[in-house]
Parts: sequence; structure tokens; C-alpha cells
Amino acid sequence: MKLKNYIGGQWVEPENGQYESDIDPANGEVVAEVPRSSVKDAERAIAAAAEAYKEWRKVPAPKRGEILFTVGQILKERKHELAQKMTREMGKVYTEAAGDVQEGIDMAFYMAGEGRRSFGYTTPSELPDKFAMATRDSIGVAGIITPWNFPMAIPTWKIFPALVAGNTVVFKPASETPMLAYELVKILEEAGVPAGVVNLVFGDGPVVGETLLTDPRVNLISFTGSNATGRHVAKVAGEGLKRVSLELGGKNAVIVMDDANLDLAVDGILWSAFGTTGQRCTACSRIIVHEGIYDQLRDRLLERMAKLRLGHGLEGQTDVGPLINEKAVQKVHSYVEIGQQEGAKLNVGGRPASDAGLANGHFYLPTLFTEVTPDMRIATEEIFGPVLSMIRVKSLEEAIEINNRVTYGLSSSIFSQDVNRVFQAIRDLATGIVYINAGTTGAEIHLPFGGTRGTGNGHREAGTAALDFFSEWKAVYVDFSGKLQRAQIDA
Ligand code: NDP
Repeated sequence: MKLKNYIGGQWVEPENGQYESDIDPANGEVVAEVPRSSVKDAERAIAAAAEAYKEWRKVPAPKRGEILFTVGQILKERKHELAQKMTREMGKVYTEAAGDVQEGIDMAFYMAGEGRRSFGYTTPSELPDKFAMATRDSIGVAGIITPWNFPMAIPTWKIFPALVAGNTVVFKPASETPMLAYELVKILEEAGVPAGVVNLVFGDGPVVGETLLTDPRVNLISFTGSNATGRHVAKVAGEGLKRVSLELGGKNAVIVMDDANLDLAVDGILWSAFGTTGQRCTACSRIIVHEGIYDQLRDRLLERMAKLRLGHGLEGQTDVGPLINEKAVQKVHSYVEIGQQEGAKLNVGGRPASDAGLANGHFYLPTLFTEVTPDMRIATEEIFGPVLSMIRVKSLEEAIEINNRVTYGLSSSIFSQDVNRVFQAIRDLATGIVYINAGTTGAEIHLPFGGTRGTGNGHREAGTAALDFFSEWKAVYVDFSGKLQRAQIDA
């Protein structure tokens, strides 16, 4: 399959004619050939989006929402096929890929409804015979830059609110997951999104992405990715005074207290730590465990980890798929070596999987470190792989302090049956998302999603919070007194 860019309503080859291969990380098979576009392609897409904005902003919001409703219906009809493609393209097991597509479906229907809500407000004026209101206004061209780990969900979290709010889009997907981006934009086209309103340009971040950051016709950037790239995005786009939303990395922890339901805690930890092979921004990579149950929990985890089956995500029995590429395998392994040098105890895993059938893929064994101390690098830096560190604590206060000590602030969780401890944790855990008696993953699309501190720059995705980013407030004063009334002076 040979993919094309989508610019101004046309599917077009990159102007330099260059392509690269999209690879299945589980077996090395080529999934698609993808344009390696140039700055010129990106600039053409930006021009198309700027032109289309002139009309799209005037399309009534309920009509924009209706198009998104149709998008949701098509996504729903094609969920199974899209999930299969996702598994082949980025490795996550089929059920998780289906969940990823479901997030897109949920977001389409939710944002379709916002077409008829997107509420502003009226408020009394301080002057007589004067009316005051605040309405949401569109902003312009949105540059959308996404990572590979949620190839459908994350683009929909950005593109759908951008569209319903009246903006046009230039979408630069991650180089590792172009096919799902292609399928999504095909569906947007099929649902009736007018030419130029959504544009898709494949290519390298430093070329296509960078053009979005620097081009003055792009008004806002919505970025999800690593902290290193996020800092660069903030700097370059900030220079042009663009509105910038950053959703970055995490170092998420599960706290397990001595009164926890341990069966439930083990289920939650395994799902959060090894689901998507630990490559979720909300993945659990630390467990902070009360000393009273530390050894018991470790033994239960080891017993269950021994049963996890690695394999291609389309095989029904697979629990854990591959990492995204060889570079990721090397990065994960380097952290395992760091952990050992730091004095943590490697209990299981700690190397690439070498079993027959996995040799052509980027598989890494689920790994557990115990006797980890809070300031070790494996306990503070994002590894983005199936590596779990177990930290011992004496109290809830100590657990919360350790949770909050890292620079990231995305998600945290606590397993406890004690309502007092639970509410103390809700109050004191310094993350954007907090789970009680559940793992660190599982966001629902109608609640705000995002992190504090090093995980971003304070914006939130999903829910109505997404509209706060993709629209701006317009304050409107209507004076029907027929004379000059001066605020603060004549009141
Ligand atoms: P990267 O930062 O490597 O890439 C993210 C996107 O940025 C890609 O599309 C990439 O393009 C692009 N990019 C790279 N360089 C530039 C540049 N100079 N200018 C503009 N764009 C550029 O992240 P990953 O794709 O590896 O994603 C994993 C990271 O994402 C993890 O840290 C994870 O925690 C985080 N993440 C955060 C989430 C959140 O909501 N907080 C959710 C999901 C993931 P290309 O692919 O071509 O390199």
C-alpha cells in the first residue's frame, strides 16, 4: 500500500517523490510505503488550511458537529478492521487497539454534541441599557503533531475539538504510525469535511513538524510526545506567539497500602505496567508499596508475570506485544543496566525476548526490579517499556511524597480500603489524573486529560477542557441606550 498526502482536498504524492517503509514491529514486515515530505508540502498544506478557514469558521457549529457524528458512525462500522491495522502497524494487542479506536468513536460523538453546546455565557452589564455576553470563537489553523502510541485516539482528541470549534487542521502524524492517520483522514473526507479543512502531511518531525512550528499562518500547535521534543516545540512555537498545548511524558505510580485488596491491585498493576508493553503515557512504572505487604505483593506479581505471553498482537493468546522499534529495545535495556548498576534487584526479565517466533520483532521481557529507592534513575525517568520498579514505604505520607517527587505529574493510583486514606491521597497526589482502586490507565473522554508540572504546560485534552484550548473567548457588549456610556466612569 502506497500512502499519499492529503492537501486541499486532493490525495497527492510528495513533491520530492521520496518514500519510506512503515514496518510491523512484531515481525519486520512492510505495512505501507509512506511519503517523506518536504517543507514545500507542509507549506502547501498550511496555505490550503488558511484558505479553507475563511469559510469553515462560518459553517454553523451544529453542522460541523453533524459531520463529526458521521465520522463516529464510520469509525464504529470499521472498528474491527482499523484495530487490526493498528496492531500490525504499532504492535499493541488487538483488544487494546480496539479500545484505541473506541476512544476515537467516543470523542467523535462527544464533540458532535459540542456543536450544539459550546456554551458561552451572558452576564449583567454595569451600565443601564447595555447587554454583555461572552462567546467562543475559532482561532485559525491548528497544527496537530502526534505520537505513535495511540495512533487513533490522540489524533481524534485533537482534530475533532479543533474542527467543531471552527478551526482548520494540518495534521503531522508520528512517522511510526502513518497508516492509521491515513485511514482517519480518509474517513473525515468520506464524512463530508470540505476540501482544505483537514490536511495530512507525512514526514519527519524536524522537517514537516518544524514547518508547522515556524510558519506564521499556523495559529496554534497541539502536541503530544516526549519531553525533549515538547520543550523544543514550546520554544520555537512560543517565539511566534502561537498558542501551544503540550502533553508529555509520565512516571506514573501505583501506591499499594497494607489494607489493599491485593488480588485487585495485582490485576491493576499488570494491566497498567505491561499493557501496550509499557508504552502508554499513563503506564505504571513504579509501585510504591507498604512494607507490611511488600514481599507478598512481589511474589504474587512474579507468579502472574511468569504467565504473560509475548507474541504478535493479532494472535488471540498474546498478552504483551513488541516495543515500537529497535531503538526502543536498546533504550529499555540501557535502563535495565542502569538499574542494576544503581543496586536495584532484578527479579525477572531484563533482556530482549529470544524465543522462536519472536526473533524478527522488537520484543522485551516484562521486567521487575525490587529494592528500588525513590531517587534511582529507574524510579524517576520515563523508560517507556515493560519495566516495573518496586519501592518500599512505611506510611501513606511517605508514599505520596515519593509519588510527587518526580518531575512528571500525569497519573497516579492508590489501592486501599480505608476511606480516610483514600481522600487524603485524592487531596495530596500532585497529578492531573488520580485513580482509586484501579491502575494508572483508563481515561474516559468526557473528563479532562493531562498532567501537572513536567507532563505539560497546563492545558487539558478531552472533555470541555479541549474546547478551552481550541477556541478563544470573545467578549461582546451591546449598548442599546442610544448615547455614549463610559464603563467605569458613568456607571
Ligand atoms: P516524540 O517526541 O519523539 O514525537 C512526537 C511527535 O513529534 C512525532 O510526530 C514526531 O515526528 C514529532 N517531532 C519530532 N521532532 C519534531 C520537531 N523538531 N518539530 C515538530 N515535531 C517534531 O514522541 P514519541 O512519538 O516517541 O511518543 C512518545 C512520548 O509521548 C512519550 O514520552 C509519552 O509519554 C508521550 N505521550 C504523552 C501523552 C500525554 O497525553 N501526556 C500521551 C501519549 C504519549 P516523527 O515521528 O517524525 O519523529
